[in-house]
Parts: sequence; structure tokens; C-alpha cells
Amino acid sequence: MTNSVYGSAPPGVTPPPFRLFDRLVHSLLPAPCLGCGQPLPARGATLGLCGVCRAALSRQPAQACAVCALPLRETYALPPGYRCGACRRDPPAFDRLLALWSYRPPLDAVVQALKFRRLDYLGRHLAAALAGELGPGIQGIDRGIDQVIPVPLHWRRHLARGYNQAERIARPLAALLELPFSTALSRGRATPPQSLLGRTQRLANLRRAFRVPRPQEVRGLHLLLVDDVATTGATLDAAAETLKRAGAAAVTALVAARTPADPFIVPRA
Ligand SMILES: [Zn+2]
Ligand SMILES: [Zn+2]
Repeated sequence: MTNSVYGSAPPGVTPPPFRLFDRLVHSLLPAPCLGCGQPLPARGATLGLCGVCRAALSRQPAQACAVCALPLRETYALPPGYRCGACRRDPPAFDRLLALWSYRPPLDAVVQALKFRRLDYLGRHLAAALAGELGPGIQGIDRGIDQVIPVPLHWRRHLARGYNQAERIARPLAALLELPFSTALSRGRATPPQSLLGRTQRLANLRRAFRVPRPQEVRGLHLLLVDDVATTGATLDAAAETLKRAGAAAVTALVAARTPADPFIVPRA
């Protein structure tokens, strides 16, 4: 029996050791920039990045599919609502995907630190950037949205990580947008890391992964479905499909970053 800040861990699951110790050390030492490793001038620098690295963040291109946000190479200005070929042939279950940045350095380091280095305050920083950049007046992520809902993690991965990184973004985002936060979507079963699977197997696995135990909580609502990164969009597609089958009227997916059309890296799940 292992006792920790999490209580007793189920058999076969090792909780992360020294979590509080890690955080204490991190709060005492001068933090290096997550992008370039140079010491940060001030504690709590936005996104854990120095000014030079923040200036190097690449925005999601404006020339992109209106549904899945796939960057498009057409040199002429696309008409409003223009959809990529894949979305015309087989549209995803979400109504549209909004992304603030391209998943390129140095943002990949920020997302990986949120996921794997337990720097959960980065979720708040990402939420503030999303609310500030995509909030009222720009793309209007709050327009017509009833509730904010994170893509859930399976409990086993949740336990190993200590938190769900999507929830760490979605909860402060809901507060900033003054919208209710929902926990109606849950994970039914563990899915193997998506990067290890082919597309067909990945979609089949994901379709069975999500559940809405209390459909009355989402019925008729327009939900803002939040995750850290969209790679193929398959996770958001499967989650949105589950929400719509439970009666959600509309699903807008929102991520901090989307992989570029020419991905330099396959992110870990
Ligand atoms: Zn830097
Ligand atoms: Zn598309």
C-alpha cells in the first residue's frame, strides 16, 4: 500500500513521488526559460518564456480550413467559411476548431512542461492567452457558448500525471469568460498512446473512449471543448461525437496549439 498526497494508489499504479518537493525546489530556484534555458528575469514569467522566446511563438495561420483549422497553402485569399477537402468529404463532429498557435518551438516546450513536468500553472497562462487573444471582439470564442468542458484523461493517466492538463486550461478559461465549467464528459477506458497507432485503429479506439454519464447536463447546449494541442484532431472529433450523441447542440473545439501542416514532431499523447 502506497500512501501519498493522493491517498492509496490502486494496485499497479505508482503515484508520482516527491511532487510537493519538486514544486518547492522549483519555486526556490531561478527558473530557466522553457524555450532557450536562459534564466528568467522574473518569477512567473508569462508561459515560462523569456521575451525573446515569447516573440518567437508562431500564430496559427489565418489561411486555414474554417472547420478543422488545417493551414492551407492557397496563395489567394480564401472565402469566409472555406473548408479543406477532408472536412468536405467527412466533416468532424465538432463544428469548428480554434487554435491560437502553431505547435512549434518554443510552444512545444511549454505544452510538454505542462504535461510532463508538472508545471500546472502554465495552464492558467495558456487560458489567459486564449481568452485575451481569441476572446470577445476577435474570433469570439465566448459568443453563443453555454459551457466550457475539458477533454478528460483516463484516470490512470490522470493519476500518473497528477492532473488533467486540459482541465488546467479549461477551468481558468471558464472563469475568464464568465462561463460555467462542466465535467459532464468522462473517459470510459484507457487508450494506448495515439502516436503508436494507425489512423483507423486510433479512431475506433477513441470512439469507445468517451462517455457522458448524465446526458441532461449537455442537452441542447453549445459547448467549448478544450484541449492543449490538436494533432490529428481525432481526439476532439471523438469527444465531440460523444457529446453530440448525448444531445449537445454544438461543439466548438479550442486548443492552445495545432500541429502545422508540415509537422516537425509527433507530440507524445
Ligand atoms: Zn527564452
Ligand atoms: Zn478541414
